[in-house]
Amino acid sequence: MKDILPAEAVRWQRLEASYRAIVARYGYGEVRTPLLEATELFVREIGADTDVVAKEMYSFERHEDRLTVRPEGTAGCARAYVQHNVAAVEPVSRWYYFGPMFRAERPAKGRYRQFHQAGCEIYGDPGPGCDAELIDMCAEIVRALGVKAFAVHVNSIGSGPTRARYRDALRAYFEPHRAQLGEDSQRRLDVNPLRILDSKDPRDKELCAGAPTVVSVLAEDDAKHFDGLRRLLDELQVPYVVDPQLVRGLDYYTRTLFELKITSGELGAQDALLGGGRYDEMIGHLGAKKPVPAIGFAMGIERVLEVSAAADVPRGPACYFAPLSEAAHGKALALAKRLRLSGHWCEVDLRGNSMKSMLRRADAMHAALAAILGEDELAKGEVTLKSLQGGDQARVAMDALPEAVARKLAVATGAAEKATGD
Ligand code: AMP
Repeated sequence: MKDILPAEAVRWQRLEASYRAIVARYGYGEVRTPLLEATELFVREIGADTDVVAKEMYSFERHEDRLTVRPEGTAGCARAYVQHNVAAVEPVSRWYYFGPMFRAERPAKGRYRQFHQAGCEIYGDPGPGCDAELIDMCAEIVRALGVKAFAVHVNSIGSGPTRARYRDALRAYFEPHRAQLGEDSQRRLDVNPLRILDSKDPRDKELCAGAPTVVSVLAEDDAKHFDGLRRLLDELQVPYVVDPQLVRGLDYYTRTLFELKITSGELGAQDALLGGGRYDEMIGHLGAKKPVPAIGFAMGIERVLEVSAAADVPRGPACYFAPLSEAAHGKALALAKRLRLSGHWCEVDLRGNSMKSMLRRADAMHAALAAILGEDELAKGEVTLKSLQGGDQARVAMDALPEAVARKLAVATGAAEKATGD
C-alpha cells in the first residue's frame, strides 16, 4: 500500500481527468459504490476457487455481517444495477468507476495490496458490436495516457454449454498427468479445471502449454459471436492477437475476454495494463427479474503510470509574492487574495528571507511571475512584476495588478504554445 504525495498526485489527477473525458464521449456515467460489500457477493460471483476469493480478500465479521473490502469493481456495480432495478428504466446502461481495490497478494513490482482501477461496464447489449467498441475505447484510453508499446489480446471462453464441454476436455487432458500437477491444481482438477490454466506454478505451466484450447470446442453461437468481434475489430482497425491461453482469473466471464498487455518489458511479469470480458450470467444470478448481458474491463492505474511517459510539463504558481520586509506582508497577502479570487494560483513567501532566496524558490516552483514588494514599492502603492522566464520587469500600480498579471500570463502562454507548435 502506497502513499501518494502531492507531487505524484498531480500525475494521478491528469490521468483521471483524461480517463473521465474519454469515457464521457462514449456515453458512460460515473457510479460510486461502497468499498465494503457482503463477502457472499464476491464468493458467488468471482468464484470460491479463484485466487482472489480463496487467498486475497480482506474479509471480516462485524455484528451480524460478513463483509469484504472490495477486491474488484464489477461485482459491486452489478449488485447496484440489480438493486436499483436499472434495467426497468433504460435498455442499455454504460457505467464507469475509478477507485481503490484491495487484495492481499504477495507484493511484487506492479502488484500492490491497495491498488486503483478505472473501469467501465455496459449492461443490456449482448454484443459483439459493443465488445469491439469497448476494446477500441480501451486502446484509445491507453494511447491518450502516453502508453505506446502495447498489444490487444482477445479470446472467447464461450457460454454455459461450451464451458461445460471445455471443462470435460481439460479434465480428460490433465487427469493422466495428475501426479505432475501442483497441490492446488490437483484439487482444482476436481472442482474447476479451468482455474489450472491461470496457475503460476511452473510445474503446471508446462502442462498448460499443451492443453486443448476453448476455441476448439466453441458452440456455434459462441463461435459466431467471436467471429463478429474479430470482424468488427478489423473494421475499426484495432490490431489484436487471438490468444487461446487467455482465461483470466475470475469465474464470472462468458464469451469475450480481452487484455491489453505492455510489450516493452518494463513491467516484467505483471504486463497486463487492463483486462476485461463479458459476463452475461451475473445479472441473472443476482436475482434480476430477467437476465441482462454485460461486459466490462478494469485498468490498473499504478501500472499505467509506471509506463506512461506522459510529458509532465511542470506547472507552477502564476504569481510568487516576494515581500522584502515584514511591513509588506499584509499588502502581499491582500494582493494575492485578489488574484486568487480571479482564479490564479499564488504563493506568498512569508519566511523573511532575502530577495535572492525568495526568487530562487519561485524558480524552483516554476512560477511564471514574481511580484516584489520593497520599501519604495510600498511607499508608492506599486509592485515590481517580474517575468521569471523572460526576465523583463515593470512597475505596476497595486490596483492594476490583476490586469497586468493576466496580460503577462497571456503573453507567456502564447509563447509556450508557439514553441510547441500548438
Ligand atoms: P483484474 O481485476 O484482476 O482483472 O485486473 C485488472 C487490472 O488491474 C490488471 O490488468 C492490473 O493492471 C490491475 N491490477 C490487478 N491486481 C493488481 C495489483 N495487485 N496491483 C496493481 N495492479 C493490479
